[in-house]
Amino acid sequence: MKNTLPPNLTAKEFSKALDEFAAVVGKEWVFAEASDLRGYRDPYAPGDVSEYTPSAAVAPDGVEEIRSLLAIANKYRIPMWPISTGKNLAYGGAAPLMQGTVTLDLKRMNRILEVNEESCYALVEPGVSYFDLYKYIQDRGLKLWLDVAAPGWGSVLGNTLERGVGYTPYGDHFLMQCGMEVVLADGDVLRTGMGSMTGSNAWQLFKYGFGPSVDGLFTQSNFGVVTKLGVWLMPEPPAYRSCRITFEREEDLGQIIEILRPLKIAGLIPNAAVLSTAIYDTALVSTRAQWYEGEGPLPRDVINKMADKLGGGFWQFHFALYGLDAVMDVSWDVIRGAFSQIPGTKFHSKQYDKNTPIEGLRDKLQAGIPNMQEFGMANWRGGGGLLVFSPISPTTDKDATRQYKMVRDRMAEYGFDYLGGFVVGWREMHNIIMVVYNRNDKEEKRRARELFGVLIDDAAAAGYGEYRTHLAFMDQVAKTYDFNDNAMLRFSERLKDSLDPNGILAPGKQGIWPKHLRDSKAGDET
Ligand code: ADP
Repeated sequence: MKNTLPPNLTAKEFSKALDEFAAVVGKEWVFAEASDLRGYRDPYAPGDVSEYTPSAAVAPDGVEEIRSLLAIANKYRIPMWPISTGKNLAYGGAAPLMQGTVTLDLKRMNRILEVNEESCYALVEPGVSYFDLYKYIQDRGLKLWLDVAAPGWGSVLGNTLERGVGYTPYGDHFLMQCGMEVVLADGDVLRTGMGSMTGSNAWQLFKYGFGPSVDGLFTQSNFGVVTKLGVWLMPEPPAYRSCRITFEREEDLGQIIEILRPLKIAGLIPNAAVLSTAIYDTALVSTRAQWYEGEGPLPRDVINKMADKLGGGFWQFHFALYGLDAVMDVSWDVIRGAFSQIPGTKFHSKQYDKNTPIEGLRDKLQAGIPNMQEFGMANWRGGGGLLVFSPISPTTDKDATRQYKMVRDRMAEYGFDYLGGFVVGWREMHNIIMVVYNRNDKEEKRRARELFGVLIDDAAAAGYGEYRTHLAFMDQVAKTYDFNDNAMLRFSERLKDSLDPNGILAPGKQGIWPKHLRDSKAGDET
């Protein structure tokens, strides 16, 4: 593979800039050889992997080094793409959107700065993974639970900035964030909320401080490099009950959702619950070839066999209860009573007390135990390629059913199985659909990419927007948020121009391009 260069830089100028980077971080933390850069690409890129290839990567250790690197980047107009652990797979992984961007790899900044058991929070640097924080808590026997993203090797900070989700009552990661430290493109360092007062001891306790609340501006954006993040942790409950309800028929979806909504809003279902299809749960633990060798979407009798193996049910509803036995018993009774209106419903639950080892993917995730099992799904068709289509749905029969059918039918048209489900938030659901394809099969990869673009347009035409997307579709999705001539995107562009006039930070992220690239680049990549 040939090395790429940042735009508008000669090889000589770039080599000079790399020397200056090395003077800041040490030669061993500047990576510019093609072989070093392999790990900074996106293995799931829905096209040519080299489309999203950095020209180099540089790994600072600390805020002062980041500031010095940004000064050099400003001098040479070098674009820099910050990553924490770079495991944002299916959405771009470690890769930058624009070829030739330099990856600002923050993995060395992996200190757990504080874990406070009394007030249940942690303050972490970017390179701290879910596994790291979990181990820290376990090693010290702290009575705290994490909320983890499905693959536990990613970072607490990176996932929160992407507004990722987990599966405990703290499943909305950005909601449970409290306080950030950010290095701006010009090197200025700010702390948000109470952290903006020197000597405040409530930085991780009260989100808002005084004046505008700006934390959200640094999520899914390119306005700064986040170097510290506060996150609320859950007190360890005395007991935990993992529950599963199965529903026999595909047509049950609407009724399930209507029953689910008031239970969730009232807090009777306390966690970020998951309503998945039998195919989804099966794909976590087996490959397609074990079930069916034919082309096109899976026939109904095969799906029925999968449901039987799971103990019945086209739909599988996973949720959990936490706390005192007596309280969980009452909640479980109310929830069972509500769902038993649907014929053929089956109820399963497993109680874990302090000393019972927690087993199985869902049971672990609902207890905030990091693991990697969900990634098994990428191998469903062999040749592991994965894109995640994730539109938001109201928690209503009308919308969930409409969205489900639209996506299912479109995927069938393109020859893909509907591997999806809903993660239930407070008042909406993240509809998470895995577009799994064989990345060694060029035609299948092309079809997956085309399908994805069509799904975005279908959803937007019906009023549904994605909560997050792969690099390849950021412009397309940003444009679907089109109220008042894309006022939101125009606002972001105004902030970008003011905070980062040379456009060095993550050009194109979330459709936000710096001024000098706005006309030439936006929309380039779809
Ligand atoms: P994780 O490995 O935790 O899943 P990544 O490190 O891949 O997450 O980060 C996901 C995305 O979030 C990156 O591509 C980048 O756009 C953004 N990001 C990550 N870390 C930072 C940071 N410290 N400051 C600003 N943006 C970041």
